[in-house]
Amino acid sequence: MTDAVGRTDPPERMCPSTPAANATVFLGMITPAGRVAYVTPAVPAEVALAAAGDSDAPVESRFRLAGPCVTSSCGFWTGEHCGLGARMAASYAETAEPGEEQLPKCAIRRTCRWFAEQGPAACPACSHVVTDAR
Ligand code: SF4
Repeated sequence: MTDAVGRTDPPERMCPSTPAANATVFLGMITPAGRVAYVTPAVPAEVALAAAGDSDAPVESRFRLAGPCVTSSCGFWTGEHCGLGARMAASYAETAEPGEEQLPKCAIRRTCRWFAEQGPAACPACSHVVTDAR
């Protein structure tokens, strides 16, 4: 199968918004303005989680974490693709701000599920996502 940017599907795709329990990569911090400050090169999730400190707020409201896409074990999986990535890319395309065409420097683009399926349109939307782990 070939993806939106013409690559053959690799064996594993990464979910760019995954709960801490499934995380393998620390993608970035949530800034006070609610945007993602991406971190490159990749930092293992366990390193970031060990430094997260105590807080009443769930770590997913402070960190963005990535992990293996679990396909049919996720409520957003449509059977063929990630419905959340598709929905976000479509809705955000209508409200994108000037200057957001430049892709953020994230650590997982090569294997990202949303980028593979939605192409660069996924990335401006991604930078506004705070993972809801409830
Ligand atoms: S959607 Fe774009 S910015 Fe977000 S993790 Fe995937 S490749 Fe990176």
